[in-house]
Amino acid sequence: MSQPDKTNTQPPRPAPGGAQPGASFHFDANLPLDERFDVVVAGGGPAGVAAAAAAAREGAKTLLVEASGCLGGMGTAALVPSWAPFGDGQKIIYRGLAERIFRQCRAAMPHIAADRLDWVPIDPEYLKRVYDALVQEHGVEVLFHTRLASVWRGRRGDMDGGVIMLTGKSGLSAVKAGVYIDCTGDADLAAWAGAPTGTGDGPEIKPMPATLCFMLCNVDTGAYERGPALGVNNPGSPIHAIVDSGLYPLIDDTHIIGNILAPGVVGFNAGHLYEVDGTDPATVSRGMAAGRAKAAQFRDALARFHPEAFGRAFLVETAPLMGIRDSRRVTGDYMLTADDYMKRRTFPDEIARNCYYLDVHPASPRESRGIKAFEKFQQGTFCYGPGESHGIPYRCLTPRGLRNVLVAGRCISADRAVQSSVRVMPACLATGEAAGAAAAIAADRHGGDVRAVDVAGLRARLRGHGAWLPET
Ligand SMILES: Cc1cc2nc3c(=O)[nH]c(=O)nc-3n(C[C@H](O)[C@H](O)[C@H](O)COP(=O)(O)OP(=O)(O)OC[C@H]3O[C@@H](n4cnc5c(N)ncnc54)[C@H](O)[C@@H]3O)c2cc1C
Repeated sequence: MSQPDKTNTQPPRPAPGGAQPGASFHFDANLPLDERFDVVVAGGGPAGVAAAAAAAREGAKTLLVEASGCLGGMGTAALVPSWAPFGDGQKIIYRGLAERIFRQCRAAMPHIAADRLDWVPIDPEYLKRVYDALVQEHGVEVLFHTRLASVWRGRRGDMDGGVIMLTGKSGLSAVKAGVYIDCTGDADLAAWAGAPTGTGDGPEIKPMPATLCFMLCNVDTGAYERGPALGVNNPGSPIHAIVDSGLYPLIDDTHIIGNILAPGVVGFNAGHLYEVDGTDPATVSRGMAAGRAKAAQFRDALARFHPEAFGRAFLVETAPLMGIRDSRRVTGDYMLTADDYMKRRTFPDEIARNCYYLDVHPASPRESRGIKAFEKFQQGTFCYGPGESHGIPYRCLTPRGLRNVLVAGRCISADRAVQSSVRVMPACLATGEAAGAAAAIAADRHGGDVRAVDVAGLRARLRGHGAWLPET
């Protein structure tokens, strides 16, 4: 591998936790270089799985690199317990690979109506195997416990001719591919390669809070179903009494969603963790410990305030991966905005449709105190009616300034408000599938140039695989 020169190395990143600001360390290394792949996907969440499967389906030799030990990201390792709605109130709109995965998961949930489209619970162990089988079917090579550690930008100063550096149990290694797809959720690859990115809403508003999801077992799920709905919108939910009691100081807001995953098992997406930056291991580490303590208080609080269902419940697992809603977002050739969402805009180059509501969580505990008013506002104003949706243009997947990099999933080019909608898993599967197909075409026909892809042809290809893309 050629050695980096000063102009080609990525700029030093802030040290984790902010230690020794300004200090940096330069070293020369001779790493093993793997040049076998047409397409490399970093991150194996819903976007990365769909991207890798779609690229390989198009004939690209594809590598999928995942930091954890399973595929699925937030929906498996982070224990997010349910799928956002797959339909627009009239029909399924996330089709293709997304619909296939969803139907498989729903069929494995005997307690769920066979035609239900909204908030279908996720059995995380089952979903891991569904994703394993999908990538295996298409011949994707998968590296678990392998993290994208760094990039070396090529002679042009972007990833064209550049390599990515991976780290795992065999140490550091390098991979050079035709096209790279960033599905890390945090835009690690695109940001390190030099693409512009944003976080929060400018300097004023930070990213949305994180949540460490968890599972309770030995729940009396019959009593749970018969009892009061836990959600904040139910005035009779025990969450109001729990917060008002002051007995559980770590439960400081009313965010709680519980889904029955299996007999006796309820998965929870509950509480908020502030000041957790998904790109900073020090804050994520603090958040993991705080999240575990919070989960234990949720168990005790529910046992006290809803004893029929939770009196004998056991905290069986907190997620091994932090639930990050929002961190770095790529700035692409087009930035999807809340205005596009409100106007139900369509685009000639759209590669997916989305209808999930705007779901902005408060960026600080102070904002959280107004959450009831906020939710009323959100649900009254920002929910689409039946049959309504908007398009996601291909240009949201093309990071500015990078010729052979695409992005998919929750870090696509979108403003903060609309990111709160397009980040849900059905939409991530859809943008992932589109990015994968586009990457394969770019690698095969255009020397990796993702902007040379004929988008009409890409849309036709996606339609051929079942995507719902109305004429624009
Ligand atoms: C608390 C919470 C609740 C949510 N609730 C819902 C819900 O009810 N329904 C719904 O549909 N959506 C929900 N979402 C949103 C949704 O789960 C995520 O936005 C979605 O999973 C994002 O998909 P992704 O593929 O872009 O990234 P992720 O799911 O975040 O996956 C990214 C993957 O990349 C890996 N990775 C990261 N960095 C690297 C690296 N440098 N090298 C290698 N691998 C890396 C990670 O380990 C992970 O597996 C929720 C999210 C959160 C956090």
